[in-house]
Amino acid sequence: MEQNYDIAIIGGGIGGLMAAYRLIERDPGLSIALFEKGNPLSKRVCPIIAKKSKSCVKCNSCAIMEGLAGAGAFSDGKYVISTEYGGWLTEFLPPETVIDYIEQADRILVHFGATTERFMPNNELKKRCLEFDLHMNQAQLKHLGTDSNFDTMMHLIDFLQSKIHIHTNANVTDVDRSTHTLTVVTKEGSRTCSAGKILFAVGRAGSLFFSDWCEKNHVPLHNNQVDIGVRVELPAMVWEDFAKKIYEPKIWYRSKQYGDTTRMFCFNDRGQVVTENTNGVLTVNGHSYRDESRKTQNSNFALLSTTNFTQPFKDPIEYARHVASLANLISGGSVLVQRLGDLEAGRRTDEKRLRQSTVRPTLDAVPGDLSLCIPKRQLDNIIETLHALDQIAPGTANYDTLLYGIECKYYSARPKCTDFEIEGCPGIYALGDGAGFTRSLSQAAANGLYVADLLTK
Ligand SMILES: Cc1cc2nc3c(=O)[nH]c(=O)nc-3n(C[C@H](O)[C@H](O)[C@H](O)COP(=O)(O)OP(=O)(O)OC[C@H]3O[C@@H](n4cnc5c(N)ncnc54)[C@H](O)[C@@H]3O)c2cc1C
Repeated sequence: MEQNYDIAIIGGGIGGLMAAYRLIERDPGLSIALFEKGNPLSKRVCPIIAKKSKSCVKCNSCAIMEGLAGAGAFSDGKYVISTEYGGWLTEFLPPETVIDYIEQADRILVHFGATTERFMPNNELKKRCLEFDLHMNQAQLKHLGTDSNFDTMMHLIDFLQSKIHIHTNANVTDVDRSTHTLTVVTKEGSRTCSAGKILFAVGRAGSLFFSDWCEKNHVPLHNNQVDIGVRVELPAMVWEDFAKKIYEPKIWYRSKQYGDTTRMFCFNDRGQVVTENTNGVLTVNGHSYRDESRKTQNSNFALLSTTNFTQPFKDPIEYARHVASLANLISGGSVLVQRLGDLEAGRRTDEKRLRQSTVRPTLDAVPGDLSLCIPKRQLDNIIETLHALDQIAPGTANYDTLLYGIECKYYSARPKCTDFEIEGCPGIYALGDGAGFTRSLSQAAANGLYVADLLTK
C-alpha cells in the first residue's frame, strides 16, 4: 500500500532540515518524510577534494551541491546575521521577524556544536571603502568553518534520523498537486507516496526541476536577475586587514562605464577554489577551513556583475548556463584560470605563464582566456571593480591575480506564493534557495523554521 505521511519535505539542505527539526519540536507525533536525491552526509565525497581526480568527473550526484546538508555541507559556513544580504525574505516578512528566525536557527546550530564567536560590523573599514566609492555591506557574521559546519550538520541529522523518515538517493521527480502524490526514484526503481502537506526545499541543485514543475502546473514564476563573473584568488595578506576585523568583506561598486553593480562576496580567507557541478554545468566557488593545518596561502572571493534583464527576455538562468558552458567548452570540459595581467594584455594565460605566476593556484583549472566566454560588458565591469578594490586593498589588481571562470549565481525562479504556499496548490509550500527566496545558509534556515511554524500553528 502507498505510504502516506503528514508532511513530505523535498530536499535535505539546511532549509529542509530546519523545517523538519521545528516540525518535530512542535509536534513529535507528526509522520514526516524527507527525500534527498543525493547521498547521506558521510558518503558525500567530491573526487577532487579527496584528491582522486584533478578535474571534475561530473558525478551523477555532485557531492558539493547535493546530499544531506545540501549545498552548505562543504561551504565555508559563513552564517550571516543580518537582512542586508543573503536573500529576499524581507520582501515577505518584516526585517525583525527575519532576524528573529535567523537567531533561532543559530541557536539550533549552536546546540548541535556550532561556534558562538561572532564578527561585528566595522565602521572604520566602511569609511575607507566610501572614500573610493565602494560600498561595504555590514553584518554580524559567524564563521562556522567547512570542517566544523560538517560536524554540526552531522549532529543535527543524527538527531533527526530517529524521529523522521529520511530517504537518501531518493529523487522526487514529480508531485501531483491535486492528490499530493510524490513520485520518488531510487536505485530500486520508481515508487509513489503521498503527504498531507508538501515542502519544496530543493536548493539550487533542484531549481530547474522546480521551475519546470511550476511551469507544468501553471504557477507564475518571476526572476530576471543573473550575476556572472569570476572567482578571484590572491595572496592572503592582500585582504588580511579586512579578514581579521570582519572576516568577510562584502563590497559593491557601481561601474563608471555602464552604471552596473558588481559585487565582491563569498570571501574565503586562506581558502581554496573549488568547482561545482550544477545540473551538468561546471562553475567555480570557494571555501576555507577553520582548522589551521588546512589553510592555504591564498584568499579568494567571488566578483560578479549583476544584470537585470527586461522585456522580452525572461530566462536569465539559461543565459548564465550558456556563459558557463562556453568556459567548459573551451577548457575541454573544465573551468578556466587566467592571470589578470594576461587578460588586460589581451593574451591567453598558458601553462608556461601560469607557472611563472607568483600566486599559486589552489584549483587545477585550465589556463586560458576568459574574454572568449565572458560577455564584454560583464568583463569590463569586473576589471574596473578590481582596480577600484585595489585602492582599499593594494595588490588586488596585481598582474598575477588569478581569475577563475565562470562563477555565476543565478537565482531560482520565484513562484507566486501567499505566505510561501504556492499559488493554486493548497498545502504545497516552497522555501529556500530553490524557490528564489534566499541565497544563504541563515536565510534558508530561517525560511525552513518559519514555514514549519506555519504548518504547526
Ligand atoms: C560551495 C558553496 C559555498 C557556499 N558558502 C556559503 C557560505 O559560506 N555562507 C552562506 O550563507 N551560504 C553559502 N552557500 C550557499 C548556501 O549553501 C545555500 O544558500 C543554502 O545551502 C541553501 O539552502 P537550501 O536548503 O535552500 O538548499 P540546498 O542547501 O541547496 O539543499 C537543497 C537539497 O535539495 C536536494 N534536492 C534538489 N532537488 C531534489 C529532488 N527533486 N528530490 C530530492 N532532493 C532534491 C539537493 O540535492 C540538495 O541537497 C554556499 C554554497 C556553495 C555551493
